[in-house]
Amino acid sequence: MKKVLVCGAGGFIGGHLVKSLKNKGNEVIGVDIKEHEYTKSVADEFIKGDLRDPHFTKELISYPFDEVYQLAADMGGAGFIFSGENDADIMHNSAMINLNVVEASVKAKVKKIFYSSSACMYPERNQVDPNNPNCEEDSAYPAAPDSEYGWEKLFSERFYLAANRNYGIDIRIARFHNIFGPEGSWKDGREKAPAAFCRKVAETENLGEIEMWGDGNQTRSFLFIDECIDGILRLMKSDFIGPVNIGSNEMVSINDLAKMAMKIAGKNLKIKHIPGPLGVRGRNSDNNLILKKLGWAPNWPLEKGLAETYNWIKKQVDLNS
Ligand code: NAD
Repeated sequence: MKKVLVCGAGGFIGGHLVKSLKNKGNEVIGVDIKEHEYTKSVADEFIKGDLRDPHFTKELISYPFDEVYQLAADMGGAGFIFSGENDADIMHNSAMINLNVVEASVKAKVKKIFYSSSACMYPERNQVDPNNPNCEEDSAYPAAPDSEYGWEKLFSERFYLAANRNYGIDIRIARFHNIFGPEGSWKDGREKAPAAFCRKVAETENLGEIEMWGDGNQTRSFLFIDECIDGILRLMKSDFIGPVNIGSNEMVSINDLAKMAMKIAGKNLKIKHIPGPLGVRGRNSDNNLILKKLGWAPNWPLEKGLAETYNWIKKQVDLNS
């Protein structure tokens, strides 16, 4: 049995990770600035606190943890990270968290840290063709992310790698590509495309209309939460430091994503295209490296995870109406 700390345990991925680590018999401590909105934490202990505070973080991590999973970040979908209004907070808050967690972990001699980076750190120039984006891990430099969120992720990746080289702390870095599933943001302004379309479809009468930012021809891939957790745990067990993509390579247009949600709901809705924050034109996970290093890559069809997510969001919509 290991003693592990999950930072961001009150969030979407952190909440699922706590459950999975508990199921595997670990002693799990969760920390977050807020409690989980949609589920009661199953952590052995859930500590509420601010990881931007170096004193709090040092004291928290002085407990002898075998592993720290660092998922806490000031985070959201396109409406939050591409509007420009939250840029300084995103950079300041997430960088402070990472600086504090690494420093405290090195001091306390934590055996291994997992860091959740993002596909948003890839250069915009490789993601302008919606049918042929390049997100190979090696394509990251020369760096040119299209958001301050992506720049912070890149800075922090480099900081974890430097701590590994200079202080000898063992690390693992994953670049997540659009993770989705039940028990995540669906209507608080931080939700991402799959949750937003499941909500709009669930809330709209058959033959009605839903809104979509942009022309819907921009492409993305979406990874269901269970496969993301599987990827994190496999990476932690492996001896590959990363950074490595954890994402699906089933690329779809946003129009097709919305149509898939309609098909699951058995509804036929019109799409009204409106201006809004968009991000890059095309993005897909390149899974060659993860396959080579872990002998595994995600393979669930998008529709399977989207159906589970739709059913959960439909329940929330019904409960809230
Ligand atoms: P989330 O917003 O649901 O979870 C992040 C958690 O961090 C939140 O519960 C938040 O309260 C907590 N947090 C923020 N500031 C804090 C602070 N100062 N002290 C303590 N806790 C704080 O996001 P998520 O989707 O679960 O993402 C988890 C990690 O994965 C993040 O680092 C995110 O950048 C990364 N990521 C996620 C995706 C995705 O598609 N969900 C994609 C790429 C990368």
